[in-house]
Parts: sequence; structure tokens; C-alpha cells
Amino acid sequence: MSGTIRESFVNFCKRQQAGLLLVGEIQKQEQKDQEALLDAQEKRFERKYNLFYENLDLIMRHKDEIIATPRYANIDAHYLLEGGGCYVGRLATSRQINIAGTLITFNLKLGTLLKIWETGQFRIACRCGDTAVIRRFVGTPLSGGSVASAICPKCKAEIHVKNRSFGKYHFFAAGKLNEDIEMVVKNLIAKWTIAETEQQKKVAEGNWRDPKIASDLAGDGEICNLETLLQELWQKELEEAIKA
Ligand SMILES: [Zn+2]
Repeated sequence: MSGTIRESFVNFCKRQQAGLLLVGEIQKQEQKDQEALLDAQEKRFERKYNLFYENLDLIMRHKDEIIATPRYANIDAHYLLEGGGCYVGRLATSRQINIAGTLITFNLKLGTLLKIWETGQFRIACRCGDTAVIRRFVGTPLSGGSVASAICPKCKAEIHVKNRSFGKYHFFAAGKLNEDIEMVVKNLIAKWTIAETEQQKKVAEGNWRDPKIASDLAGDGEICNLETLLQELWQKELEEAIKA
């Protein structure tokens, strides 16, 4: 008997196809999936952006409470402020850092955005008597010129703001993201230190075979999102209205 194994033409084609798929195609597939994810994210942030600005009056009425409550202050707000200019590019309100192959995303926080809006640079008086806040700006660091767009929480008017210092928008807001990153990292270090203490206690007790610090690392619990915040603020105002 001959030792040759005959492969059908169909199987041969299948095997060839599978081999050819290896490099180019699997990368293309990953890229396609990533793009689909980005598309879905973009739609999600567009919906949240509209939801936020439709309820800006509610947010502003509870501004101090949001800033003082970490659960609220830490809500992701990176998609609510847009800016950028020639040479410096787009304003970064979100930064991803690769740490040992793990991608960590740092976002501008809601409490920080509300504090940015407390500065004169990011505010303008509206005709209705309320104060509008800047949500978009473009400009150039060379001449320092800029154009910006503000929205009024009360009458929802869009106000165009011209010729304010570009640097006072861009570099100020960029610095605020850095402060948020610093806060998160310091918070993580503090939590790791607590976990270390817990681990040392277990080691001292001697009844743990292989204590690991990571198993004692605890986070802040459930994350609060914009939708939950709005729900809670509506509820609060409703209860106050009933009481009054
Ligand atoms: Zn107004």
C-alpha cells in the first residue's frame, strides 16, 4: 500500500484559506471589531452629552453637593468639554496609559468640570440673567486668540464668546486632567497601603498559607453614572417639592 494520504481538493482549499487568513485577516478582524466598539461608544457619549446639557439647570442647582460628594464628583465628564487649537491639537480630557500591558483610562471628572466652570474664563452672563458656561473652544497659542461656545443652563441659549485667552482655556483645562490623574493614582497608592497592612496582619497571625496583597485590595464599590445622578437629583427635588 502506498503511504501517500490523499487530501480532497475541497479540504486542500480550506487548509490554504485558513493559512492565508493567519496574519492580515486576523488583524483586520480585530480592527473591525475595535471600530464597531468605537462607533457604539461615540453614539453612547452623544446621548449622554445631550442628556447632560438638557439637564444642566438641575446639575447647576446641585453643583456644591456634587463637588462635595465623591460618588458624584468622580463621574466621568471627559465628553462634556471640547477644545483644541493649532499646534497643540485637541484638548485631552481623557488619557489612556499602558501600565505593564494593562490599559488604564483616566477621565476628567464631573466635580472638576464644575470647578472649571467656577472660573471667570469659563463663564459668561446670559441675557436671561443666568450664567452660561463654556463647553467648546478653539484657538491658537501663537496669537492667543480664540472662539468659544457657551450654553445657558436656564434658557439653553448658545452664546458665542470671542477673543478670550486661548491658553487660559486650553492649558488650564489640560492641567485639571493632570490633577484628576494624580488624585486617582494617590487614591490607588493609599488603597494598596491599606491592603499591605491587612496582609501583614494575616502573616503575623500565621494562619495564612500564601497571603497576597492583591486579594485585600478594595475599591470604592459601585460606580455612579450620569443617569443615576440625574435620577437621584430628580427624586430629591420631587421630595422637597412635596414637603414644601
Ligand atoms: Zn439664559
